[in-house]
Amino acid sequence: SVTYSSGNWVPFTDNLKNNHAHQLRLITLLTEDIQHDVLYFDIQPQVDLSTNEITGGEVLIRWHNDHVGQVSPGEFIPLAEQTGLIYKLTDKLLESVFLWASQHPRALHTQRLSINISALDLLQDNFAKHTLDRLSKYQLAANKFTIEITETSIFQNNALVHHNVKQLHQAGFKLAIDDFGVGYSSMQNLVALETDELKIDRFFIMNLLDDTQSQILCRNMIDLSKALHITSVAEGIESEGILQLLKSWHCQVGQGYHLYRPMSPIDYLTLLDKTVPPL
Ligand code: C2E
Ligand code: CA
Ligand code: CA
Ligand code: CA
Repeated sequence: SVTYSSGNWVPFTDNLKNNHAHQLRLITLLTEDIQHDVLYFDIQPQVDLSTNEITGGEVLIRWHNDHVGQVSPGEFIPLAEQTGLIYKLTDKLLESVFLWASQHPRALHTQRLSINISALDLLQDNFAKHTLDRLSKYQLAANKFTIEITETSIFQNNALVHHNVKQLHQAGFKLAIDDFGVGYSSMQNLVALETDELKIDRFFIMNLLDDTQSQILCRNMIDLSKALHITSVAEGIESEGILQLLKSWHCQVGQGYHLYRPMSPIDYLTLLDKTVPPL
């Protein structure tokens, strides 16, 4: 797609991405599409690395717009956060995930669902209460759900964030620290928040086979988790070699294209039927 690299010309795709008008257009379309329930979600299975059983799945939001096509959450979540659209987005996502789960109890028989929550959501003082009310509306058990929160959001050490997390946790939600290792880590916070899962960032996992430093850091994160009785989760497992290495280090749970790609909720249920004996 690169045609001219001199003068004022930059590669077309980069130009488009950085284009202010394009961003504004995305924001307008996103606003409309959130309002009209156009966004949906996929689920990526997570696997117990010692038994190969599916332990649950991570809910990943998706957006397809007729004018701009498929937009990745890596692109539109930051936009939603910058514009305050994130509140509505998370709100609608939780509503649709809980509704879906209540209609398909199979999904939660022996598995759990992980949901990504933005730091901004946790700065809303009624977030936990609101979420718990909604959960009871659908008569779902909190301990079937994990909330994934990035390291940076939790380690801001904000009282409101801690309050929301504690309230959800006390009600039974599990807590996962997402993208662990890339941000600002604090052992004290890990312990204070009674973290249930550490999700080792994809960055370390991707480079495992050829980068000694990633290997050292990754092994340490797995050992640290073990010592603190926290479940270690490796995301972004893309090859058999990486999978075997993580198994040899006794990493507990794995996620990645080499195991399963994110899939539609229907495909996820079909997979559970194929791989998990019904109760
Ligand atoms: P994340 O929470 O770290 O999610 C994992 C991302 O890694 C997902 O990208 C997933 O599709 C991708 N992935 C999984 N396995 C592999 C692999 O083997 N190789 C590679 N290269 N990638 C893999 P996705 O779905 O594009 O989401 C990107 C990010 O957007 C997420 O990163 C998360 O930070 C955010 N996000 C996604 N859904 C939501 C949501 O519902 N709410 C919020 N607040 N953020 C979300
Ligand atoms: Ca995540
Ligand atoms: Ca992650
Ligand atoms: Ca990430």
